[in-house]
Amino acid sequence: MNKIIDGKETAKQIRTEIKEEVLVLKEKYGKVPGLAVVIVGEDPASKVYVNSKVRACEELGIYSEKHVMKAETTEIELLELVDSLNKNENIHGILVQLPLPKGLNSKLIIDSIAKEKDVDGFHAENIGKVLIGEEDTFKSCTPYGVVELLKRYELPISGQDIVIVGRSNIVGKPLAALLINESATVQVCHSRTKNLEEKVKQADIVVAAVGIAKFIKGSMIKDGAVVIDVGINRLEDGTLCGDVDYEQAKEKASYITPVPGGVGPMTIAMLMKNTLISFERTMK
Ligand code: NDP
Repeated sequence: MNKIIDGKETAKQIRTEIKEEVLVLKEKYGKVPGLAVVIVGEDPASKVYVNSKVRACEELGIYSEKHVMKAETTEIELLELVDSLNKNENIHGILVQLPLPKGLNSKLIIDSIAKEKDVDGFHAENIGKVLIGEEDTFKSCTPYGVVELLKRYELPISGQDIVIVGRSNIVGKPLAALLINESATVQVCHSRTKNLEEKVKQADIVVAAVGIAKFIKGSMIKDGAVVIDVGINRLEDGTLCGDVDYEQAKEKASYITPVPGGVGPMTIAMLMKNTLISFERTMK
């Protein structure tokens, strides 16, 4: 059995589906979805992420705008930009790349994005709607990508014991909500969790979102478990690795995501999907 969950290939399939749908909608309405990406300051990783998002838009026929702001940008200037994008009818999705430079209140800025255009799914109201299982929301892209990977590989979620290691607002918590909505039994672990190893060992599906290279060892994985590695860590030699010790864990897992090429490519694919969903909602 092929045990690798190929996120790169799955993301490619999703992008192809989106590209086709964009063409159909363009034919029907004479308009295409639009995404505005805002970057403040010079963070090198943020620049790479923003450029890959813009490239993805170009590939799929989605209109995109990149707004590059100086690190000294004031909160008022940023709020004014978001406000103008909120009102712009050609823009269906707005993404403010995080982290923002010190002195800018991320929560205030994110919550100023119109919730109907919050394609990152970070607006407090959208997160709340995910929690209560409402559909007219945006699922945060990385958790959405994890669920999509499990579904496209037809791996059961309902009734499964799932352990997520990491409780961040962008991965662990929203993912827990999505998986509970899919009828999984979910435990969310973090740095204060007692007997973490024993908890992980019980899991049918383990999701690692810790931010520590190779934190989850093969000995912590139950035979036949599904292992999803959200982590992206750069090692001293410049290579990327996940939060799971892949070489060890793949000997135990029935299915496992590699890093790179697992969850990572899904995040941008789901951002494109959310932008398409937003456009379709405005056309209804
Ligand atoms: P955060 O740093 O926000 O959260 C890390 C979580 O891990 C926290 O809940 C923390 O616990 C927990 N943790 C840290 N140390 C331990 C420990 N020793 N034992 C148990 N739990 C621990 O990270 P993110 O959620 O933002 O990201 C997690 C990883 O996923 C990173 O590698 C990041 O690069 C990657 N990532 C990948 C994405 C993708 O597209 N593939 C997107 C987003 C993130 P506590 O809350 O108690 O501090």
